Amino acid sequence: MNLKRILSVSLLILVVNLFTGGFCMAKDVLSKKEISIAKISSYTASGDIESLEKALDAGLDNGLTVNEIKEILVQLYAYCGFPRSLNGLSAFMKVTEQRKDKNDTIGDAGKILPAGTDKFAYGDKVQVELTGNHVRGAIYEFAPAIDQYLKEHLFADIFARGVLTNQEREIATISALASMQGVDAQLNAHIQIGKNTGLNDNQIKAILEIASVPKLNEIFKTGAPNTAYAKYFVGQSYLNPLTTEGVKISNVTFEPGCRNNWHIHHKGGQILITVQGRGYYQEWGKPVQELHPGDVVNIPAEVKHWHGAAPDSWFSHLAIEVPSDGGSTEWQEEVSDKDYKQLK
Ligand code: MN
Repeated sequence: MNLKRILSVSLLILVVNLFTGGFCMAKDVLSKKEISIAKISSYTASGDIESLEKALDAGLDNGLTVNEIKEILVQLYAYCGFPRSLNGLSAFMKVTEQRKDKNDTIGDAGKILPAGTDKFAYGDKVQVELTGNHVRGAIYEFAPAIDQYLKEHLFADIFARGVLTNQEREIATISALASMQGVDAQLNAHIQIGKNTGLNDNQIKAILEIASVPKLNEIFKTGAPNTAYAKYFVGQSYLNPLTTEGVKISNVTFEPGCRNNWHIHHKGGQILITVQGRGYYQEWGKPVQELHPGDVVNIPAEVKHWHGAAPDSWFSHLAIEVPSDGGSTEWQEEVSDKDYKQLK
């Protein structure tokens, strides 16, 4: 390849990257096998068994062995409890039964630590490898049994089984924690551990995207693609009208990176109630507000604003139309990629 051709190919790659931005990139940074680990883990942690069965089936097609999947589901009991883990294994039994003619690869089984191993020292060493430090703290002095179980059981018995690499185990853990409420401290700790095992920022972002996908057991369903309003949105959104009588209320779901254009609700205004994921609300000329489940936004009539998802999270809010006489919505320009990409 001559220099001119190399330069033109490089330029083409640069232009393609500029146009696809961050949105398509995240989906390409994990292997099919790693995507399957994250999906299996997320659906197990959230208890969405119907989606889990599909993810388990795809996982075997994507090259995970039967024993690798068992290992993911067993490890998850340490992060989301025996009930979720057992339900996941039960779903996997059903899937393997349905696929018994496919001769799926069983793969290596887990190893058991030799009798007489100092498991506390073994687990401590694994914790140091993963976190970079001896894990100490007041909580472990307050309840020494939890330190003993973390070291001797989770980081010795379970991690010593092999079958999965530490990085694969962290993909499963990050995805499970990101699928659960109220475990932000643990999620952030495992994002750092994941980086210590070699995961990069784009891979972490891709795992968080997978974990934030709406689940079948969530209260408000996602609904159909929002085709009627698609021209006023950047990215894919979904609309589920909950009631159209009296006060109109819809569940609106945004894929990662999706947001609506700047717009104004004339006369009536709008109330948003965040249902799931991480997103944004911004009024013209004001700083952006980050939204989390349960957050309520009162949007006064005649105020120019936009709302939508964070780049690494699916996001849903209820949109409540404040009743008015002759209310309407005036749609304006897109929130530019330049402005949107400055948000964290
Ligand atoms: Mn609005």
